[in-house]
Formats: sequence, C-alpha cells, structure tokens
Amino acid sequence: MKIVLYIVLGLLALCLLLLLAAVIRTLLTPARRSEWTPRRDPEREAAYAEKLARMVRCETVSAKGEIRREKFLAFHGVLAELFPLVHEKLEKTEIDGALLYRWPGASAERPLVLMAHQDVVPAEGEWTHGHFSGDIDEEGRIWGRGSADDKSSLMTIFQAVEELLADGFIPPQDVYISSSNTEEVGGDGCPKLVAELEKRGVKPYLVNDEGGAVTADPMAGIHGHFAMLGILEKGQGNLLISARSRGGHSSYPAKNSPIARLSRFVCDIEKHNPMRSVITPQLKTMLENMGAYGPFHFRLLFGNLWLFGPLLIRLMPSLSPQAAALLRTTVAFTMQSGSDGCNVLPQEATLTLNLRYMPHQNREESNAIIRKLAQKYDLEVKIIDEYDACEPVRTDTPAFRLLTDTVREVFPGLPLVPYVMTGGTDARHYQRICGTCVRFCPIVYGPDQMKGMHGLNEYVDAYSLPGAVDYYQALIRNNK
Ligand SMILES: [Zn+2]
Repeated sequence: MKIVLYIVLGLLALCLLLLLAAVIRTLLTPARRSEWTPRRDPEREAAYAEKLARMVRCETVSAKGEIRREKFLAFHGVLAELFPLVHEKLEKTEIDGALLYRWPGASAERPLVLMAHQDVVPAEGEWTHGHFSGDIDEEGRIWGRGSADDKSSLMTIFQAVEELLADGFIPPQDVYISSSNTEEVGGDGCPKLVAELEKRGVKPYLVNDEGGAVTADPMAGIHGHFAMLGILEKGQGNLLISARSRGGHSSYPAKNSPIARLSRFVCDIEKHNPMRSVITPQLKTMLENMGAYGPFHFRLLFGNLWLFGPLLIRLMPSLSPQAAALLRTTVAFTMQSGSDGCNVLPQEATLTLNLRYMPHQNREESNAIIRKLAQKYDLEVKIIDEYDACEPVRTDTPAFRLLTDTVREVFPGLPLVPYVMTGGTDARHYQRICGTCVRFCPIVYGPDQMKGMHGLNEYVDAYSLPGAVDYYQALIRNNK
C-alpha cells in the first residue's frame, strides 16, 4: 500500500516540477508584440483603388461545368486597358480563359510564378454596396465581390510589373503571372497552365499564391498584424453515401428506413469524431510562433507543447470549428436527398460528405474509417472525387527564405507565421513541378475581409494596396 502511495506522490511531484519548469520558462521568455502598421500613401492608394474598382465591376463569376470564356475575355480587355505595358512587353498565353504571362529575365534558371485567380464566387443577399459596384467610399474601401478574393492580389501583381516595366527594369530571373479562371469551382484552369509550363520544361523556383495574408488579429487574444504563410494545404474528397430499401407507403413505415440509417450514421460521426487529432510539425510551428504574441496563458500553453500538447489536442476542438480543423481530417455533411413525395418512403436516400484530409490521415485511411462506419449502418459509399493533402512546404530552403526575407524587407516589424490552411487554393496544382509553393497574399485581411470573402459585403482597404505592389516588386528584384 505504502509503495503505491509513494508512486502517486512521486508522480504528483514530477507533474508539479514539470509545470513549474514550464511556468519559469514562460516567465523568462519576454512577451512579443507585432509592431507593423500600414504606411499610408494617399496618392498611390487612390490610383490603385480606381484600377481595382474597374476589375471588380467586371463580373467574373465561375460556375461548375460551364466556364463561359467570353466573360473572361471581356475581363482580359479590362486588364489590357489598365496595364498596357504588361500587355505590350510580356508573352501572353490564354487557355480557355486562364492566363499565363512570361516576362523574360536575365536568366531562366530560377523562374518565379506569381499567382492570383480571376474568377469569383456568386454574390447573393443584401449588401450595403452593390454586388459588383466597385464603389470606393470615403474611407478608401473598395466594395464588391472579388475585391478581397482575389482581384486585389491580381491587380497588385499586374501593377508591380507595370511599374517595373515603366522603369525599364529587366528581372534577374524569368517571371510568370499565372491566373486561373476556375479556382473557385476547383476547375481545370490552373492544371492547364501547369501543363503548359510542364510542356515548356519550366520548373518554378518559387510559386506565390493566395492563402495566407497580412492578417489582422488572426486569433482571439492575439492582436496586431501577422504575415500568415500557408505551408500546408489539406486534401479534399466528396463521398456519396446511400441507403436503400424497398420503399413503400408512408402510412405503415417500417423501422430502419434509409433516412433513419443515414441519420444514425451522421449522429455517430458528430458525437464520436472518428478522425485522429495530431499536432503536426507545421501546426506546432504555427502555435509556437503565434502564441509568443498572446497573453500569458497562450505563451504558457503554446510555448510548452512538449507538456501541454495532449491537453491542447483535447481543448482545441471545443474552442472553435476552425481550431478543430487544424488538428484532424474533417467531415462535413453537405447534401441530402430522399423520396420525391411527402408520402413516399424513399427506395434510396443519399447524403454527401465533404472531407478535408490531413497528411497524417490521408484519403485512404480516412475513407476506410468512413466505409467501416457506413457498413455498420448498412450504407454504401461511392467516391465522387478526391485528392490527398499536399506535401508541406519546407521552410529551410533558400526559396522559402527568399520569400520571408522579402516580407521582412517590405513589412518591417511584421511577425511571420507559417500556418496550416483549412481551405484550398490553386497552388496545389503547382506542387507537381515546384517544391516551394507558398500561400501568401500581401494584402491586409482583417475580420471584415474574412467574413466578406464568399460572404456578404466583401471589401478591401485601399491602404493595403501599395504594400502589396511593393512586395511583388521586391520579390521579383530579390530573386537574383
Ligand atoms: Zn481565392
């Protein structure tokens, strides 16, 4: 009995010691603050806002299955008007509305690819400004679908090149502008551009796409601006789950109907999440980097993952769905169907799942878990489409350093946080031909932009545009 007591006491003392070590370690590490604030430049802001507004007014909604090329050709006309030198000096290739420009540099050894998509998601509901108004208000906000996602990025890429061309600048390395018109629908615009580059034998040194941004207040409790650099993109799969029966009249329903079985399946996944939560090395880097800028308890928890990792794995899912999505493959229930009549039992009911795969539990393993559960409720599983999570971007390469050095040069005092993205981008198509595809759009995104993208009242602040132009120019210059 005594031995057990000693063991318990010993373990307790060890826990206290470890806790004490973590607290002392945190107290000895000074709290950090993000020092960067946007530099104002009213003249440039106004000129850039006008150009972006023109691009927003040109509606470029993409729809699955039917990409109307004429719509994008009209947009290309606007681009040619706004950026005449780009269109005079660069080699332009258009593939079904997707655009690829090559700016020949002094060398073709380490090509740089700057990406931003032309298409936008549909705009619905009541907005304070028209869906595609391109209104510029007194505070210098440019309103309309696409202003933040992703035309501000596209505009500043073109503007950066336009200004360098006006100065007679020759880039040290080849520069490509790659702009798909099907990003929002996961279409083949970007894959066609990648195939074109592959055909030409081009192996990009660095690809810079949207994803992360100069994010204001990225997490509750963490204030200021941060350069969020997307280095890990989850995979995605859509699965059709179906339940069958003999159907029949609804006046004498039998038990275990297709809808009842599907419902139990859904409840099971919601209640006992079957996916494995892990703090990946990329998430660890993200938490440590960001935690250093938070209050004491953040610094204690995120700065000592060796001790609090298992606790965080339990805590994070209850903080927010976004926090949960950083840890594991997610399962979302997106579409459902039953019979065609109110009084008809369905012979088949279906449910669509949207999965976002983590590298530690990719499609094969995740889908196997779903299949096993489906079997339990006598359901069939059909894969509609799927792709695995991307290889995480390595942060110890010269190409990644080129990007981070440029961020530091253009945004002094802005903390850098490599992060795990929960959404998808076109950059994943480039991973086949490029090892360093970083998702970072140098535009300031605050909570309003996060809500506005794909939501209501999308707008972007004109003050974030000059910094973005400077960033793209510096990146082109620095790629020597
Ligand atoms: Zn986008």
